[in-house]
Amino acid sequence: MFGLIGHLTNLEHAQSVARDMGYDGLADQGLDFWCAAPPQTVDHITVTSITGQTIEGRYVESCFLPEMLATRRVKAATRKIINAMAHAQKIGLDITALGGFSSIVFENFNLNQIERIRNITLDFQRFTTGNTHTAYIIARQVEQASSQLGIELSQATVAVCGATGDIGSAVCRWLDARTDVAELLLIARDRQRLEDLQGELGRGKVMGLEEALPKADIIVWVASMPKGLVIDPTTLKKPCLLVDGGYPKNLDTKVQDPGVVVLKGGIVEHALDINWRIMKLVNMDVPARQMFACFAESMLLEFEKWYTNFSWGRNQITVEKMEKIGEVSLKHGFKPLLS
Ligand code: NDP
Repeated sequence: MFGLIGHLTNLEHAQSVARDMGYDGLADQGLDFWCAAPPQTVDHITVTSITGQTIEGRYVESCFLPEMLATRRVKAATRKIINAMAHAQKIGLDITALGGFSSIVFENFNLNQIERIRNITLDFQRFTTGNTHTAYIIARQVEQASSQLGIELSQATVAVCGATGDIGSAVCRWLDARTDVAELLLIARDRQRLEDLQGELGRGKVMGLEEALPKADIIVWVASMPKGLVIDPTTLKKPCLLVDGGYPKNLDTKVQDPGVVVLKGGIVEHALDINWRIMKLVNMDVPARQMFACFAESMLLEFEKWYTNFSWGRNQITVEKMEKIGEVSLKHGFKPLLS
C-alpha cells in the first residue's frame, strides 16, 4: 500500500479546509493549535492504472504549515514531519511520498539522525521525496509548453530560480543533457552552491533574480519559499513561460498579461478518475485527476513494486533516473499538466 504525507499551504487555508469539512471548532484555531496537532489519516485512495492494475493508498495530513518555518518554530515543524512518518509506518504503508515541504524539513534539519519515535524504528527505505518524478515532469513541461508557445529552446534563455535545490539541479541537468537550450541562468542565494552547480554542468550563468527575469524566455520556479513573491509582468519578455513548481506557489499574484503564460509546475494529470477528497482541498482544477508529481511517484513505486526510497538525499537525481520514472509514469497513464 502507498502513502502520501501532505500539508496545507498556510494557516488561512488550513482554517478554511477545517470549516469546509465541518470542523467549525478547528476553523478558529491559530498556529499554536496546528503546532500541537498530531498527524491524521484523512483519505483512503484507490488508483487504477491504464494497464488495468489497481492499488490502494492512504493520505496522511501532517498538520505542518509553512508559517512554522517563517516564525522559526523549528521544533514543531520537525516533529510534524517525523511523527507523520512514524504514523505512516505504523499503519503499514510500504512506500510513502514526503510532499511539499516535508522532504525539505527532513533534509534541512537532518531528521535522518532521528531513527526512533516512541516504539517505532523508522525504516527510511519506505519513504521517497518524489523529487525525481517532480523534476522529470517540470522538465517535460518546459519542453512541451515552450513548443506550444512557439519558443524555440535552441534560441531560448531559461532561468531556474532554486537552481541549486534537489528539483532545480535535476531540471538543470535534464535541460543541459536532453535539450539544446541556448542559455541557462542559475538563481539561488548561496553563491558557493551556485558555483558548484555551474562547475558540474560546465555551463550556466549565475545571476540575481532581478537581473535574470527580464532576460528569460522561460522561468522555472522551484525555490523553497514559504510565501510567494510578487513579480511585475511588464519587466518580462513576451512571450514568456513561467513554470511555478513551488508548493506553496513561488508566485504570489495571478500574472495577467497576454504575453505571459503561467503553468502549474510539477503537476500531473491521470488518465482515469481517482476517488479521493484531498486534491479538492489543495485547489486542483480537476481534483479527480490532477495531483502533485511527488505523490504520483509513490503510486508509481507501488504499481511497479519498487519498494525503495527511489528519491532520497539531496542533489543526487540523475537524468537516467528521471527517464526511468518517466517511462513508468507514461505506462500507468500520467501526463504533465500543460494548461
Ligand atoms: P530544496 O530545499 O532542495 O531547494 C530549494 C532551492 O531554492 C535552493 O536552490 C535554495 O537555494 C533556493 N531558495 C530558497 N529560498 C530562496 C529565495 N528566497 N530566493 C532564491 N532562491 C531560494 O527544495 P526542493 O528542490 O525539494 O523543492 C523546491 C520546491 O518544489 C518547494 O517549493 C517544494 O515545496 C516544491 N515541491 C513540489 C513538488 C510537486 O510535486 N509539485 C514535490 C516536492 C517539492 P538557497 O538556499 O541557496 O537560496
